[in-house]
Amino acid sequence: MDRNFDVIIAGCGIAGASLAHFLSARGLRVAVFERGQPGSGGTNLSAAIVRQHYSTELMARLALRSVQIFADAEQLLGRDAGYRAVGYYFLASDETLAGATRNVAMQRALGIDTAMLALEELAERCPWLNLDGVAGAAHEPAGGFADPEVATAAFLASAGDHGAEVRLRTPVRSILRQGDRVVGVMTDAGPVHAGWVVNAAGPWAAGLAASAGIPMRMRSVREQDTVWEARAGRPLPESSVSNTVDAIYIRPLGARRFIVGRGFPKDYHDVDPCNYKTTADADFEEDVQLRLTRRIPAFEGARLVHSYAALYDVAADWYQYVGPREGLEGYADFCGGSGHGFKVAPAIAEELAAWLHEGKVDEDFSRLSHDRVEKGALFVQSYGGNRG
Ligand SMILES: Cc1cc2nc3c(=O)[nH]c(=O)nc-3n(C[C@H](O)[C@H](O)[C@H](O)COP(=O)(O)OP(=O)(O)OC[C@H]3O[C@@H](n4cnc5c(N)ncnc54)[C@H](O)[C@@H]3O)c2cc1C
Repeated sequence: MDRNFDVIIAGCGIAGASLAHFLSARGLRVAVFERGQPGSGGTNLSAAIVRQHYSTELMARLALRSVQIFADAEQLLGRDAGYRAVGYYFLASDETLAGATRNVAMQRALGIDTAMLALEELAERCPWLNLDGVAGAAHEPAGGFADPEVATAAFLASAGDHGAEVRLRTPVRSILRQGDRVVGVMTDAGPVHAGWVVNAAGPWAAGLAASAGIPMRMRSVREQDTVWEARAGRPLPESSVSNTVDAIYIRPLGARRFIVGRGFPKDYHDVDPCNYKTTADADFEEDVQLRLTRRIPAFEGARLVHSYAALYDVAADWYQYVGPREGLEGYADFCGGSGHGFKVAPAIAEELAAWLHEGKVDEDFSRLSHDRVEKGALFVQSYGGNRG
């Protein structure tokens, strides 16, 4: 059988696009098959908050590396990836303070520029913040956000520069398997063969894996977001904020506009990823507005500009499924971003590219394989949900 490509990537969100860059930069023959447009899954609707505040060394070190990749985008990709280091605050409640303090110490030991702030310092830096119920905060200057559409396009264009073939409006209908080896994919134009097939199909990855009898423990849950425009002449946040006191997150969009969503703890609703409500619910908008204005009174009278719902592809422990699986050749996962997968995707892509190309992988990174589900070796985090 002729191999058409070294690697076929199914799906072109931030995962598929960044992997295509790192593989093709290594000189591999890469094809990306995307059934719609780049980023048309969860990626383009992502709040795309960039933070390094994680509770495991693995995810914190990946987040640190991703920030470096975003910051070096001009050099690495030949174009800007839409990253803006406007800073990031993690607002802690009485319940999350001890964990946040421990995690910041762990992050600092990894070389992450972050610190816990005393309440007085927080009040000084954030005059817009109501401190009632806030027990403390972590801050990182390199946090902020990226434009998910710009970032995905930048990685994809760079992959193209390195010779990757990008086929848009080209769904992968199924994964082709011969016994214990995946050999390629089926498209409407027929089979295409490759040494590796990477499943980067986001919330649709489990269905795609099932086409080759590959099990995947993944939920698709609906995630709503709102965009608010504050009135002029009031002090407003310039940084991204994870607020564990009111369970909301806030991301500046510019021009007094902010993306605001609900964070853990909250109800997660499983939906059919091919048939779910893509508009937000009125009670969700009201609830978010209440939590937002309670914490940042400057949002009184803010205008709701837009609201929508997209999908989280939630893995068994809210960490991605990445890499090959035992007993199956030629197949790798890169999915299950679980609502925090945007920022870490570039660093994961870099290490996954080395794993697929050279068989080289760090032990902690290899734990991301879906094999951990069968082995009962799930990751344990301190916060819950996608806070990681
Ligand atoms: C509302 C919202 C807010 C978020 N906020 C943040 C945040 O602040 N920070 C953060 O880090 N993360 C955040 N996330 C999570 C993050 O955006 C996702 O984890 C990440 O974008 C997922 O990227 P992906 O490439 O894995 O999947 P997707 O972007 O879903 O891409 C999968 C692609 O595969 C394609 N596809 C599917 N099936 C096939 C097929 N059979 N053949 C070909 N193509 C196929 C789809 O069309 C899609 O383009 C958020 C997510 C949402 C929904």
